[in-house]
Amino acid sequence: MKKFLLLLFPLLFFSGCALFETRDSRLHTFHTVVLDPGHGGCDPGARAVKGMDEKQLNLDVAQRVKPLLEAEGYRVIMTRTNDTFIPLETRTAIANAHSDAIFVSIHFNASPKRSASGVETYYYCYGSEPLAAALFQELCSQRRCPRRGVKRAVFYVLSHNHCPATLLELGFVSNRKENAFLQTPQAREQLAKQIAAGIAKTRAF
Ligand SMILES: [Zn+2]
Repeated sequence: MKKFLLLLFPLLFFSGCALFETRDSRLHTFHTVVLDPGHGGCDPGARAVKGMDEKQLNLDVAQRVKPLLEAEGYRVIMTRTNDTFIPLETRTAIANAHSDAIFVSIHFNASPKRSASGVETYYYCYGSEPLAAALFQELCSQRRCPRRGVKRAVFYVLSHNHCPATLLELGFVSNRKENAFLQTPQAREQLAKQIAAGIAKTRAF
């Protein structure tokens, strides 16, 4: 992920985020899941060492998560359904238009350090931490990779979101071995199932 595109000076006043809230009550009651496949169009995101780049992988995983959630009775809204560039403010506006939504942004990672690998999840509002934590736990449940952790960051799509919101980094496409795994449909199906399961567990807490 090109972090500089998503990082923004923390305009806390405009963030719409209850900073001192420990848990967002919507985590128990949401019916709508906004799935946000990161990047798209002129913004490829992270370049894979081989195979599909991040923008394609993000969309592929989101499209696999959607029917799994719909089968559980959730309404799913995608911020993009094809290879188009969607501004970050449009992505958050889609989520903020729904009072019963959570927001899950899907990304893959890259690093100049080619050995970097593993999963990490992000939140900004403390009320969103349980969502990020549940997804992290689920994503690490069956995969042998570094548990990079649940982290707090001022990414635009998190800090400008009024919904419980998380951003997932599902693995490094700059790592030859991990990328080879992530490029398989089986791996992405497994990731999709884990994302759907993590969302369902958050709702059930
Ligand atoms: Zn990204």
